[in-house]
Amino acid sequence: MKVTIIGTGYVGLVVGACLADMGHEIMCLDIDKKKIDKLNKGIIPIYEPGLKTVIKRNETDKRISFTTDKEKAIQFAEIIFLAVGTPQRKDNKADLKYIKQAAADIGKYMNDYKVIINKSTVPVGTAELVRKIVKENLKKPIDFDVVSNPEFLREGSAIKDFMNADRIVIGYDSEKAKTYMEKLYKTYVRTFRPIVFVDIKSAEIIKYASNSMLATRISFMNEIARLCEKVGADVKKVAAGMGFDKRIGPRFLQAGIGYGGSCFPKDVRAFIEMARENKVDFKILKAVEEINEEQKKSLLPKIKKLVPNLKGKKIALWGLAFKPKTDDMREAPSLVIIKQLQAEGAKVAAFDPVAKENAKKLLKDVEFIDDQYEVLKDAHCLVLVTEWDEFRNFSYERVKQLMKQPNIVDGRNVYDHEDLEEAGFNYISVGR
Ligand code: NAD
Repeated sequence: MKVTIIGTGYVGLVVGACLADMGHEIMCLDIDKKKIDKLNKGIIPIYEPGLKTVIKRNETDKRISFTTDKEKAIQFAEIIFLAVGTPQRKDNKADLKYIKQAAADIGKYMNDYKVIINKSTVPVGTAELVRKIVKENLKKPIDFDVVSNPEFLREGSAIKDFMNADRIVIGYDSEKAKTYMEKLYKTYVRTFRPIVFVDIKSAEIIKYASNSMLATRISFMNEIARLCEKVGADVKKVAAGMGFDKRIGPRFLQAGIGYGGSCFPKDVRAFIEMARENKVDFKILKAVEEINEEQKKSLLPKIKKLVPNLKGKKIALWGLAFKPKTDDMREAPSLVIIKQLQAEGAKVAAFDPVAKENAKKLLKDVEFIDDQYEVLKDAHCLVLVTEWDEFRNFSYERVKQLMKQPNIVDGRNVYDHEDLEEAGFNYISVGR
């Protein structure tokens, strides 16, 4: 099928690349000329494992192309995905300005029947809004359908997640559009991946409800971690014991420094707002959000336990991105921790395998070092912020020699207490 993806970011680019790999003809449209120029030169503007290989393969086979030409891109396709950003507004609601702009462009340039798919995470009712805007901008009456098809991929494993999705959710209200969607996702039908066909509003809610459930599990475990710290229990062992219960399952039970990223924080807040507008007081999600905000600040007291006076002291961070295997710094807990440390007068140095360039745009007075060990030179404390694989094992001797004091605060519960203490480190983690 001929498919246009509007918005070539973390989601749009992956969706485009993967659909091309399934044999569809893809045109990726973005208003960011720099991004499109890069893509046309073979440079991938984001870090996502495996993405470059998939794009290269499909560019060679002429199944994927990149453009800023709206008219060409919109007229090319039978199916148009909206994968533009829906960032948080000041009032916590999802900002739909990019969706509205893209919908107006579709209406303006549309020449024949198309299925327009909301892939972006959008509040309930947005499919209707898109329908209205497209209609208002049509130059002559043309039939079209709007479908909701939320995306559940995770940055860092996006290709795998998209190709092996647990389920595809499709909200539709037209049999013709349903046929198009079945054809688009034929590969999933063949491999018996569940495709959940629902009404449009339910599909819109499913995305927010799913992210909110995952965020709830994280905040729940972070609150359990606080109790564990008080009573001398170990939250990792508690999670293991809970996770074997099939009704609970082992995933998303890790305590840590709180969730961040481009989705959970904004989606939880937008869901609370959506509920409020509909006169539902989403008490549980308000607590989830509050716990998360506190959790992001919870490392400072631990660091101060080891280094009581931070003024002029060097604190080294391993990891900046909100999670491993991505360069995405949106709402990363590292931003909060660094600001707290700087307010205490500490000198902050950091190493992240890929997030440096994005971090530089958001942080001031941080020394960015390109080496995992070099960053530790003369540090009074090492803080593990993002659990990249390369941080899981390290040379104890080398680290001790480099650091001024052998202090480690582990925000991700990666290390073993006994191991590190035996090696002569002062070690504090979360909920243990
Ligand atoms: P992003 O900011 O990385 O990319 C959005 C892109 O859209 C940008 O390149 C921007 O230039 C482009 N754009 C904006 N307006 C445009 C227009 N009118 N025409 C063409 N291009 C336009 O965002 P993202 O992280 O890819 O997220 C996109 C959507 O997917 C959001 O709603 C997000 O909540 C949702 N989502 C994200 C993830 C994730 O892990 N990032 C996962 C699931 C869902």
